[in-house]
Amino acid sequence: MLTFIINTSLGILAAWAFYKTTIVLLFPENHAEISILELLRLLVKGWLASPGPSILPLDQLSYTLLGDARQSGRLRGGYFLLHTKNGVGSDEKGTSCILEIQNNWRKIDGEWYALIKEPFVTFQTREDGERIVALIVRHRSDWDAIPSTSDLVPEGFRVSQGWREKGREELKEKGNYLYAQELYWGAFDLYKQALHQPVDSVPSDLIQRNSAQAALKLSLRDTAIQDATAAMSANPSDPKNFLKLAECHYSARNYVAAQTNLQKLVTLDPLNVKGKLLLEKCQQRIAETKGQYDWVKIRKALKTRSNSYLDVADYTGPVEVKVGEFGKGLYLTKDVKAGDLLLVSKALQFIYLSDGDLDNPKRLMDMKLDCILEVAERLHNEKGLQKGFFELWSGKEGVEPKNIDGTYALDTEMIRDIYDVNCFTPSYYDINTFREEPPYGEGLWLLPSFMNHACWTNTRRSFLGDVMILRAGADMPSGSELYTPYVSLSIDLLSRQTHLKDRYGFTCTCAYCTIQTEESLQVRKNRASILETFAGMLPSLDPEYQQEALKECISKIEKTYTLPPSDFPRLELLNVYWMLALTYHQHEPFEGIAVSMNLLSALGFEFDDDGSMTRVGYVDLYAMPTMSQLCISWAALGQRKKAENWGENAKIICKIIMGEETRFGEIYEGWLEAARRE
Ligand SMILES: [Zn+2]
Repeated sequence: MLTFIINTSLGILAAWAFYKTTIVLLFPENHAEISILELLRLLVKGWLASPGPSILPLDQLSYTLLGDARQSGRLRGGYFLLHTKNGVGSDEKGTSCILEIQNNWRKIDGEWYALIKEPFVTFQTREDGERIVALIVRHRSDWDAIPSTSDLVPEGFRVSQGWREKGREELKEKGNYLYAQELYWGAFDLYKQALHQPVDSVPSDLIQRNSAQAALKLSLRDTAIQDATAAMSANPSDPKNFLKLAECHYSARNYVAAQTNLQKLVTLDPLNVKGKLLLEKCQQRIAETKGQYDWVKIRKALKTRSNSYLDVADYTGPVEVKVGEFGKGLYLTKDVKAGDLLLVSKALQFIYLSDGDLDNPKRLMDMKLDCILEVAERLHNEKGLQKGFFELWSGKEGVEPKNIDGTYALDTEMIRDIYDVNCFTPSYYDINTFREEPPYGEGLWLLPSFMNHACWTNTRRSFLGDVMILRAGADMPSGSELYTPYVSLSIDLLSRQTHLKDRYGFTCTCAYCTIQTEESLQVRKNRASILETFAGMLPSLDPEYQQEALKECISKIEKTYTLPPSDFPRLELLNVYWMLALTYHQHEPFEGIAVSMNLLSALGFEFDDDGSMTRVGYVDLYAMPTMSQLCISWAALGQRKKAENWGENAKIICKIIMGEETRFGEIYEGWLEAARRE
């Protein structure tokens, strides 16, 4: 019997472990030693600590008064409607409670009505001895701020607030006053109240428009569009209504809808400056959705305000999400060439790091949490984003988000899990040092997150602010799966695999890992020891001997490889080749060219006699400066055609590494030109 109980408990524990790995860590090696009570305590504690969101539609929950909450624990099947101020709620009977909204990003100032679904009920004793109810909610879909005019607010409750005696003008003016004080929820609510009053001299579309504007400030984009649409229906002849609706659509990134309204606006009012400017921006965004980006302008926006959130539309190139060998993945829908633009994606949520943040783990954790809570807030306010988000991998198989009446229950922990395995930390490539700079932020990009991992990848992601650019890293046929590295190939095999296993739960079987795994440990050790010997020896050598030492190092390491570079790029050798090339370029250009060509061959690149690239190899950071150097060397030797071809090669690699080539153009083009003229 005892065994049976243990087994059953273990079964539950196993099921639980599936969701909560921390419990597994708590579980002792020898499970016979754990008492049943202890085990149950752990299980119950785990469940209590992690209750999911309410998953019943509102019409299946019953309206509950605070006086009816008599027991501690989750109030199943009920909802509260509370008038709220400074964390204290009261119901229509005047009973008060403490309202604790956890995991909350949005802070609402002033008074508001809170809808609270299936909260946790606890009791606290106040200083005066009175026992008071405390309600706790943890998930974004378990609470909402609702306008005073909502049908959910009981009639008696509404009357007691006294706004019904006031006229539209007074309510609107009060709303405008709060708006000026940046108390946007209060303003929004007052506009709703004004709209509920009998029509007088204040036109409805004016109030609807103000309401839409307040909703925009609250980032309630769906609501803003609804209100602006209502304003438009109420008065389709006022250009201001077209402009407001267009602004709301633009904010929600519905650029075509925004453009349609703006075109109507400029027909009605050809001199409307605001409308014309927004129309121009709309047309730029629509061009961007077709892959036409003004990179110089985008970079300029970042230069003027380095931590800015870019106003850029997404581009979805020849890619689609499909289910393949590793679950959902991103696949090509047509043949592409190396350097082709595949995706441009603005982060759903992004946070910039400040100086010193990288060395401050607590600050990093707080920022991550902020980002996660902001994601929850956006998903709550913009229902159109939910499906795409919940299709992402959560790191846990078989855990499905719950759907209530077409919208998703927003489980904070599930959102955290999805964010955690899908977030990226972008960094810039320093064109002067040919190195990646430290990360400057962290965020979540939806479509790129569908890409599965390969250490040796066929795409390259780069960043401009909160925008990710994905380019093809090689020529590829339609139907190819696109990969992105979750961990850098510059890290050794064992560390890579350990990281992938710990963080994402899989072992990488990409071409590079397979080759490295099949190599004997002896070969890898041998290679490392040759490099180490030379690295130790080099600084003490006179310059004339350094050249010979570098050549010897290359020759010794080359002998440790059995596969051709196209199958197994010589990443260990790049630095050595680079140093050797530097020793030649100035005085012995032909030697320098030969070494640079060897470097590129070691990466698997192939070229024809005049320097045209016939095969793109492994796109390492060394590739671009090496190609630029070849361009300069050939130009110096008066070989214009070859110089131009190498310039073009460098441009393609720049595009792959940095997302766009205009920066390369600015820095290198000038002196490439000068070199060509020599
Ligand atoms: Zn791999």
